[in-house]
Amino acid sequence: MAKEKETKVDAKSKKSGKDEKLFWVDSKGKRVDGRGINDLRAIKIQAGVLPNADGSCYLEWGQNKVLVAVNGPREVLPKHQANPYRAIVRYTYRMAAFSVTERKNPRPGRRETEISKVSGEALERAIFLERFPNTAIDIFVEVLDSNAGTRIACLTAAAVAVADAGIPMRDLVTGITVGRADSHQIVDLNKHEEDAEDAVDMAVAFLPNSKEVVLLQMDGEITQEEYSKLMQVAMDNVEKVYEIQKKALKESVENKKPEVVEGMEQYLSASPADHHSDDHNHDSSPKRGKVSMKEKDPFSFGETDYTEVEDENPDAEHEAFDAGKE
Ligand code: ADP
Repeated sequence: MAKEKETKVDAKSKKSGKDEKLFWVDSKGKRVDGRGINDLRAIKIQAGVLPNADGSCYLEWGQNKVLVAVNGPREVLPKHQANPYRAIVRYTYRMAAFSVTERKNPRPGRRETEISKVSGEALERAIFLERFPNTAIDIFVEVLDSNAGTRIACLTAAAVAVADAGIPMRDLVTGITVGRADSHQIVDLNKHEEDAEDAVDMAVAFLPNSKEVVLLQMDGEITQEEYSKLMQVAMDNVEKVYEIQKKALKESVENKKPEVVEGMEQYLSASPADHHSDDHNHDSSPKRGKVSMKEKDPFSFGETDYTEVEDENPDAEHEAFDAGKE
């Protein structure tokens, strides 16, 4: 069995000879991993990492490592799941068996089902679903390594992958965890901090421009006053994550091959869609075409131009694939 690394917390409690009292934040305001109370773990985001997917993203958030692939909007199978008024979002969160210290049962459990459901619903708030009736947007999320905060890491990465797929959105979705350990309000809890005796762990995701909350989950108990303070801490710090998402998208567009950008040019002359208009005003006729995101400025979500492109023969892709198999 793998021996767990000794943390500063373990070392401190051993030195003092008292196992019962652990120091989560020291007198200088430093946490067990050396961070201040408002410091996030290091975040690295790269978009467009999987050429076979319509959109993709790799994200590291401290020890957490997650990979997201997006396919769609595409035909819904099984067909009875299709909604004639809008696209459906199918978000699949999975933790790899090797992503935790002890081997995890690879069979999806209730936790994964729950996280998939709430995360998919959060993204639905950001995507212009009404533009793609009778289609599915499939989002596959794999946790490769974990140390608390994976649902937020995954949702943050998934929003980047959806944007990378060129799917029109009102805004990105950006998440953060805030909480309490040993009476201190802290940002971005790691696994040790989640295990504090009085721990509160609150996962929040926003549409970062409007600060609309699209996901809110909490472990532990807090007062109304503490909740308000934690929410403010979350709002203050989520900007840091949003900036990293935008940077990743910008780099992804800049790295696109010239022929891809050239291929997109035919779509760029169409009139821009109005992102602020009411969704119900959009044409709701069935569309199965792909969506191109104008590469010029995909980060200012209020102003970005998107164009929708219908396939001339939407079945061509399937026919070509089937022909190749015969
Ligand atoms: P989140 O990862 O969003 O914080 P939880 O609070 O449920 O979600 O989980 C906290 C951490 O516990 C995870 O990041 C992971 O490191 C660990 N964990 C979750 N599920 C398992 C499991 N089945 N086996 C071992 N460790 C797990």
